[in-house]
Amino acid sequence: MDFISVKEAFGRAGEVALRGWCSRVRTQKNIVFVVLRDGSGSIQVAFKEGDVSADAFKRASELTVESSITLTGAVRKDDRAPGGYEVQGRTLDVVHVAERFPIVKDKSPEFLLDVRHLWLRSEQIANVTVVKDTLMSAARDWFRKNEWFETTPPIITASAAEGGSTIFEIDYFGDKAYLSQSAQMYLEALIFPLERVWAITPSFRAETSRTTRHLTEYWHLEAEAAWLDQEANMRVQESLVSAMAQAVGKQCAEQLRALGRDPADLLKIKPPFKRITYDDAIEILKKKGMDVKWGDDLRTEEERALVEGEEKPIFVTNYPAHIKAFYMKLNPDGKTVACADMIAPEGFGEIIGGSQRSEDIEYMKKRLKAEGANLKNYEWYFDLRRFGSVPHSGFGLGIERVVRWFCKLEHIRDATPFPRTLNRFYP
Ligand code: ATP
Ligand code: MG
Repeated sequence: MDFISVKEAFGRAGEVALRGWCSRVRTQKNIVFVVLRDGSGSIQVAFKEGDVSADAFKRASELTVESSITLTGAVRKDDRAPGGYEVQGRTLDVVHVAERFPIVKDKSPEFLLDVRHLWLRSEQIANVTVVKDTLMSAARDWFRKNEWFETTPPIITASAAEGGSTIFEIDYFGDKAYLSQSAQMYLEALIFPLERVWAITPSFRAETSRTTRHLTEYWHLEAEAAWLDQEANMRVQESLVSAMAQAVGKQCAEQLRALGRDPADLLKIKPPFKRITYDDAIEILKKKGMDVKWGDDLRTEEERALVEGEEKPIFVTNYPAHIKAFYMKLNPDGKTVACADMIAPEGFGEIIGGSQRSEDIEYMKKRLKAEGANLKNYEWYFDLRRFGSVPHSGFGLGIERVVRWFCKLEHIRDATPFPRTLNRFYP
């Protein structure tokens, strides 16, 4: 008999062959109950003395948590079983008897991070991983449908995109090189042959503050397009994020519910998203009694206050130039830049940073000098403004930030299988 998946077994009548892992094992008188897990889900299997051979019953009674097995049996509707179906075991082969599984009742967060390679087998992480798969694939579909090209920028770089304070340095055969914080500058080079380009790459940030929204390694979705101004840039972002929310809301309803997120919340995410200027944001925050002044960057608390009562993300636009990166286009007021952060609802904070890019080499040089950067490393970037420069814009979206929001996770580390943070890069 050919093996079928647990998902396929639900609702099937008659004999099936299944294989997977025992996530729970319990013996009750003359029946061994096993919760069998595979890549598609879990189903209860009952091995009853007499229904199976004496040998098979003995093997079933010796099963341990996480042992791998193959079996045949008959699927039956059973309201007492989780999911409403049960398999009555007929034959059992044990592929591997697992040693005593280290994850038992008391599970401190630190311990679970130490055994992350095993804790990945939990339902929660599996559900999050399915959501992540779905939203990345929805993003890819969106770009393809709208005729953007997926590209492969480098990870090893000679210069910082987002400022020196969070950069990881590596030894490159005796020279200093850096792990990419953003692919943006490389995507900017790629708009000249292709106009609309995007990439998903790991970005690295040596974040030294402990927050629930920063990893030191994360997956970064970045896009860049020629002839795109900042207003059109925001329309791209709201359309993309809405497509991701719709796909997850529709395709992952079951996973979302298990994670405590109502899929209807995501189905409400549709363009347009509200836009408020940074100037207005400061006034709103002051009225709410918060201690902020023009020129301050917005922290998690302020972002949370700005989305109070919102069901969809909002854009905060035109931040002061001095709190944003050197490559953003200066507005005519000479103080703010043509940029926007997209802030997720419910206090999940910034999920996208985007801007129109400066075409003014002298302005960018002045900014970089003030930051103490080595201008020589940026000569190639200035070349992009010397040979057929055009207005262009782009943005960067943190995949784990969006996963955290969609899945309603307390901490961003649960949005990725092997989180890297200030004091952890094992396992
Ligand atoms: P923050 O203010 O939250 O540190 P940022 O301004 O440094 O964000 P950008 O440089 O604009 O962020 O990066 C683009 C996007 O990448 C952000 O909107 C966010 O979604 C994501 N991102 C940035 N830093 C991290 C990080 N350390 N871990 C996970 N995602 C991140
Ligand atoms: Mg940052």
